[in-house]
Amino acid sequence: MRLILLGPPGAGKGTQAKRLMAAHGIPQLSTGDMLRAAVKAETEIGLKAKDIMARGDLVPDAVVVGIIEERIEEPDCANGFILDGFPRTVAQAEALEKVLHHHKMDLDAVLQLEVDENALAARVEQRVAESGDAVREDDTVEALKKRLTVYREQTAPLVDHYREVGNLVTIDGMQSIDEVTQSIQDALSSGQGSRIRAAG
Ligand code: AMP
Repeated sequence: MRLILLGPPGAGKGTQAKRLMAAHGIPQLSTGDMLRAAVKAETEIGLKAKDIMARGDLVPDAVVVGIIEERIEEPDCANGFILDGFPRTVAQAEALEKVLHHHKMDLDAVLQLEVDENALAARVEQRVAESGDAVREDDTVEALKKRLTVYREQTAPLVDHYREVGNLVTIDGMQSIDEVTQSIQDALSSGQGSRIRAAG
């Protein structure tokens, strides 16, 4: 099963991705996690991404597309994967479609976690409070504002994009964590989110 989790920062994508990973035995591919690992390891990509991430901007499309393309070729992705935080621009979505087509892979569903934006600042503040020393460099009020603006301007258009493609499933992300998980399970087991067929 190949899934995309779509939603603004703080919508619960990471939490639900981990639950989907456990339930379906497929890996969570979080470009944010991969980029943070690259920053920590001070790789070439990490050095380029560090400041961009800290201020809440998007790293260039080509960088994340390259990371994802390499990652989905790994053996643990053979039975599927959950994309968490990718794609984030229409250009990334189009590049992903090409990559999937090239690998003769289908996408099963795009799960949009719809949340009230006013609740997001509170969720991120809670995450800051709970994470203690492990606080993310971009979990600041200023970076969050920027990340929300970037989401609205560059990522939200993906909702219409995937609605047109035909595999958008909208989930009420304001429910409790367990209820969101249940809604996702129900949607997937009823076959919502028609598949993008890899032609050829
Ligand atoms: P996340 O953990 O998904 O919130 O991502 C943290 C940060 O990593 C983002 O604010 C971006 O700077 C960068 N990032 C993660 N995924 C992407 C992506 N698909 N495209 C561009 N930048 C990304």
